[in-house]
Amino acid sequence: MGYRMRILVVEDEKRIADFLHRGLEGAGYAVDIAPTGTAALELAHTVDYDLVILDLMLPDLDGLSVLEKIRNRKIVPPVLILSARDAVDDRVKGLELGADDYLVKPFAFVELLARIRVLLRRGQPIPERLQVGDLTLDCIRRKVSRSGEPIELAPKEFGILEYLMRNKGRPLSRTMIVEHVWDEEYDGLTNIVDVYIRHLRSKIDERFPCKLIHTVRGIGYMVDAPDKPASQLADAETG
Ligand code: CA
Repeated sequence: MGYRMRILVVEDEKRIADFLHRGLEGAGYAVDIAPTGTAALELAHTVDYDLVILDLMLPDLDGLSVLEKIRNRKIVPPVLILSARDAVDDRVKGLELGADDYLVKPFAFVELLARIRVLLRRGQPIPERLQVGDLTLDCIRRKVSRSGEPIELAPKEFGILEYLMRNKGRPLSRTMIVEHVWDEEYDGLTNIVDVYIRHLRSKIDERFPCKLIHTVRGIGYMVDAPDKPASQLADAETG
């Protein structure tokens, strides 16, 4: 598996949470469950989610105040609200507070999946081909080439490169990389990122004067191409 969208499910009812967890993982998403509003806020402040599914009836905090706090962040994932059938006021309030969509319980899982796909497309257009400088990654055929020369990558290497290229020019922490490329149990995996980056560099950058994978001190890694021609950057520092 390569890069996966990561979804936070905020739901206290274990039966529904388990159902969503299984269903969404089966649909190819990485999933974290927060059973309380407090847990949701902690996760939303440390993990870079692509989408949040938010139940409004939580045991500790009101779902709407969770929404408000998530919306105050700089980088905001789309939020889909799950609400009870009779809670029209809550749905209106939720949309006013910046939720992107809502679904009334009980809902059909296919309906949820369809809504999720729309929201993820809206939040982040997904091109079939990613291009950074002369480096090309074909997301559908899962092929990578540089200057027209094919490069063989292991699945995790491909996943990391895809995530970096989707976020071209944006520094990504080791934790963010792990969260998007490894499915679960990612605690303690951050050192492995350095190992994979070394492999990627040897395959992608080593033979070329212009380096595309950059170390961002104190943060992690970034893929970017300089605007200047490669010849002028032959000696550029790449960490
Ligand atoms: Ca609930």
